Amino acid sequence: MDQALFLHGARDARVQPLELREGRPHETLLDVAAVGICGSDLHYYKDGGIGSARIMAPFVPGHEFGGYLCEDVPELGLKRGALVAVDPNRSCGQCEWCLVGHCNLCPKVEFIGAPPFDGAMTNRIWVPKSQVVPLPEAMGALEAAMLEPLGVAIHAVDLAKPRLLERVALLGAGPIGLLILQTLKVAGAGDVHVIEPLDHRRAAALELGAKTAAATIDDFVRGESKGGCPLVVEATNSPRGFRDAVLAARIGGRLILAGIPDGDSYTLPASEARRRGLKLKFVRRMGDDYPRAIGLVSSGRVNVTAVVTHRESLRKAPELFEALAEGRPGYLKALLHPNGENGGA
Ligand SMILES: [Zn+2]
Ligand SMILES: [Zn+2]
Repeated sequence: MDQALFLHGARDARVQPLELREGRPHETLLDVAAVGICGSDLHYYKDGGIGSARIMAPFVPGHEFGGYLCEDVPELGLKRGALVAVDPNRSCGQCEWCLVGHCNLCPKVEFIGAPPFDGAMTNRIWVPKSQVVPLPEAMGALEAAMLEPLGVAIHAVDLAKPRLLERVALLGAGPIGLLILQTLKVAGAGDVHVIEPLDHRRAAALELGAKTAAATIDDFVRGESKGGCPLVVEATNSPRGFRDAVLAARIGGRLILAGIPDGDSYTLPASEARRRGLKLKFVRRMGDDYPRAIGLVSSGRVNVTAVVTHRESLRKAPELFEALAEGRPGYLKALLHPNGENGGA
């Protein structure tokens, strides 16, 4: 029988047998090749939910994934055994938000890997054919799994609209932060100043093109701030992320909030934000960004491999969740290979 990683509640992750459900006519079956552990999965693990979205019954996370087709899919011109990615987002296509193009904000969205919809931390998964993303030949399982987080980074940079050579402060150099960093550079941003408490993440940021990397907002303000940056992108999991973003911004600056704070609350000094007259945008998931994510990876303009530090079997998933939740040194993105690193069709 297939195995899956189940989240039962806060700090309770277990690998258990999963009986594969029946497929539906619009679906196709995949052998999961690689699936990433996302910061949002860690919120379910740490807090038992995100805001009002709670774990009501044990569920299988996993929305960043690629897999091998178990059958030909002629509609997509794909053969059995082809490696594909999957867009986890299925919006209704009919509500007023979908109709104006904000499919990422659809209240009726069905999102693979968000409760109650089981995700890809398992051996096999049925997915709607309409959400299958064909990939170029040269792409591997790691890249396939990294396209979803890269899509989130692209969406954040789209909202940020960096001006040519504009100075940017980037809070948080986790996997999403590091993908945003690289995408900002592609989009023409200038010096990117990273603020990140973990040593190895600051080192990764410098490696991937950050101009400077400060451990705290105070260090940044004392050092490279020069009155703050006109553009600030926040990609932390900290309740202080919003506050730090405000303090990193200069008067009239723009803030892009991409992170999800632990405990679902921010602490914010109102006067600091108001006096600066800041403009603010929140990031939720992404739009139709797979083609560009594939383009950035295939052309080598964004290095997704550098963001992946751990590749393990499903059995190791509970340990990885704990290590990531603790913010242990040395961890960036962790991928699971439920069928082994070369497993699958
Ligand atoms: Zn994610
Ligand atoms: Zn909708």
